[in-house]
Parts: sequence; C-alpha cells; structure tokens
Amino acid sequence: MSDVVLLGTGGWNWPNPFCRCASCEWARAAGETRTNSSALVDGTVLLDCGPDVPGAAVRHGVPLDGVRLLLLTHAHADHVSPQVLTLRHWAGRAEPLVVAGPPAAIALHEHWVDPAGAVELRTVLPGDKVTVDGYEARALPAAHGDAITGTCVLYDLTTPDGTRLLYATDTGPLPAETLAATDGRAYDLVLLEETFGDWPGSEAHGHLGLREFGEAVAALRRNAAVAGHTRVVATHLGDHNPPGPELARRLGAHGAELLPDGAVLTFPGPGPRTVAPQRVLILGGARSGKSLEAEHRLLAEPEVVYVATSLQTEDDAEWAERVALHRARRPAAWQTVETLDLVPLLATEGPPLLVDCLTLWLAAGYEDPARIDALVTAWRRTRRRLVAVSNEVGSGVVPATESGRAFRDALGRLNAAIAAESDEVWLTVAGIPQRLR
Ligand SMILES: [Zn+2]
Ligand SMILES: [Zn+2]
Repeated sequence: MSDVVLLGTGGWNWPNPFCRCASCEWARAAGETRTNSSALVDGTVLLDCGPDVPGAAVRHGVPLDGVRLLLLTHAHADHVSPQVLTLRHWAGRAEPLVVAGPPAAIALHEHWVDPAGAVELRTVLPGDKVTVDGYEARALPAAHGDAITGTCVLYDLTTPDGTRLLYATDTGPLPAETLAATDGRAYDLVLLEETFGDWPGSEAHGHLGLREFGEAVAALRRNAAVAGHTRVVATHLGDHNPPGPELARRLGAHGAELLPDGAVLTFPGPGPRTVAPQRVLILGGARSGKSLEAEHRLLAEPEVVYVATSLQTEDDAEWAERVALHRARRPAAWQTVETLDLVPLLATEGPPLLVDCLTLWLAAGYEDPARIDALVTAWRRTRRRLVAVSNEVGSGVVPATESGRAFRDALGRLNAAIAAESDEVWLTVAGIPQRLR
C-alpha cells in the first residue's frame, strides 16, 4: 500500500495575490487556493520543494520528518527552497537524506548543508537512477528550461510495493525519449502539468495547456504508460485556466482529475472515475466554438477518425483554405476520412469518430426521409464512441427561399432525432458549451 499527498497543485499561486482576473477572483471567492506543485510519497519521498511547500505541509497536517529522498525537477524558484534544510536542521533531524536533482538545482543547496549532518547532495541527469530505502527514481528528460535551470528532469518513481508514479512537471510536450522511457509502464498515478489552460503559446514557455495536456495523455495511452487503471491528475495549475468547475469538466474529457491541494491518493485504490459518454451531439451557430469543443473531447484518445462530411470541391478556394486550417489544428495521429456515407462507419467497430458536421451531411439529401431514418437508427445502435457537430439555425433569420426553409426544417428535425438518441447534448454559445442533456 502506498499513499501520495498532493502538497501543492499550483504553479506559483492560484489565485495570484496581485491578479484580479476572473479566474483569480473565482478562486478567491471559492476559497480554492493552490500553491507550488509538490507530492509526498509514503512520507518518505518528496517530489519538488518550492517555497510554499513547508507551509503547505503544516496546513495539511503532514509531517516531513520521514523524508529520506528529496527529488528536485529543476532550479526554477517555484520548485526549490534550499532553506528547508535549515528547518530540518533546527529540528535536530540526523537521519540520512538524499537530495537529488539536476546540477543547477543541486548547486543552490550547497551552502545550506550542514557539513556534520547526514544530507547527501546528488546530481542527476536524464537516464540516471537514484535508489533510497527501496524507492527507485529514474530521471527522464523534460521539455523545459532556460539559462538559469540548465537541464530539467521529470521522475519515474517506483515504491517498494511496486506502485508506479510519473511526476511530469515542468514540461512542454513530452520528448520522444521520455515517451520511449515510459513505454509500457502502466503507471498507477500520472501527475501531469497543465499550466496554461486555453492561453496560447504554452509550448513556447515549456509548459502544457489544456490542448497539449490532452495530446500528452493520448501519447501516454498510445505507449501504454497510461492504462485503464491509471489515475491522471493535473498539477502546476495557473490562473490562465478557467474557474474550477469548468476546468474539472475539461480535464474530465481527457480522463483526468482536478484534485484540491492536500488530497491524499492511495494505491492500490479506486481507479479513475471518469467514464466518457458514448454518443455526444454538439450544436451551435457559426463560429460558436462547436468544432473546437468536439475536437477537445477526443484529444486524449490514442486514435481518432475525423469524418469530414464535405466532399471538397476544387473550385472553392475559401472552403479549401478553411478545411486545410482545421486539418492543421488536429493532432497528427488522427486519421481523416472524407465521406457522406456515415451509416457503415457507425456500424463497424473502431476508434472514436468525430463527425463534422451533420449539417453538410444533410445538405447532400435532405428530402429523403429514409436516408435520415437510417442514420438515426445507426446512431442508436452504434458501439463506437461518437462526437458529432451540427448547426443550430432555427433561431436565425427565416430563409428567403422555399428550399432554404425546407432545409432549415429538416435540420431541426434531424438535430432533434439525433439528440434523442445521444447520451449527451451540448450547445455552444460564444465559445462556452452548455449542457442540454
Ligand atoms: Zn514551475
Ligand atoms: Zn519551471
């Protein structure tokens, strides 16, 4: 049996005391505070120790006297606080302690070590192993760092009872060497950073946003580092994220959890509780964010078939450009199929389908009720995971032509019929998804 205490799940502080953004204001009002990312394993191994960590241990009622191995990921100031060694010294702790980390992080600790004490500083680089009291840590490459930090690492930790943990902060998209080193690990717990929410440019800062987080989970699923029993928990959360309930929903779509600071996880224990709905219909007006929402829901899937229901015509340059843009936005691992023949796709087993969109599918034959009935029946019977997008047009201007009105009416009926056979139905307005069913 192993236990992991999340001493912190923030980057710096969320809320940021200097910030009045909606996300910080929400956190203040809700009393949901997060401080420097850190995790304590079995009271013995401490992963990262930023300046807030000793205080967090005090607040959560967790003593640190049993720590025998302190693993540091890098020298950024939210991950190290060498003065903690003085706190320990004042308490008269004479038991051995190994402090391991990349060179720049270890260098910061040199002046804080009592020469008469039993603290050993150990430099690690990607690929190195540290073993203390039966706890085995492997340093893995991180996509993070600058002139201050030099090399940064992530940790793969195995406890004496065989519990496996991946501690992955701070990092941009996981390097190929890290994915190779985690191949087949089927971790019990993955603590994965998600610093920036929907804020653009997280990769450039050596971090993950919600999109990159989903893609990282997909990559870890493809190499069996994340398995069915793996709990994936987001950490290093910053105030570019949406307020908690929305963030929890977004992470849930990736099969990941948002837990409060101080949360305790035990292994073996209950696995992840998030179960993806099988059939989801996402409605919305033009540019409402419905396609983005649909894509987001499947980002953490190891394989996805993207079904474009438009048959690209060569003479429409604007349309071709739009299609190319959408395609560039989708993960490289996704397969794209351009077809109007949805029924056979729904009837066969395979990876999840993203159907974008039903409106165009209908336009290719809206006068034929048999065609529509066949789709609705296939939707009801399918065993595949499905996310489909359709336009919500009924509240717009009444079409000027008779055929326009007939199409609008047919689309309304199709949306209602598909909605009735869906596990979840959402409406996106101004980029905000609202659950209808
Ligand atoms: Zn950090
Ligand atoms: Zn950092």
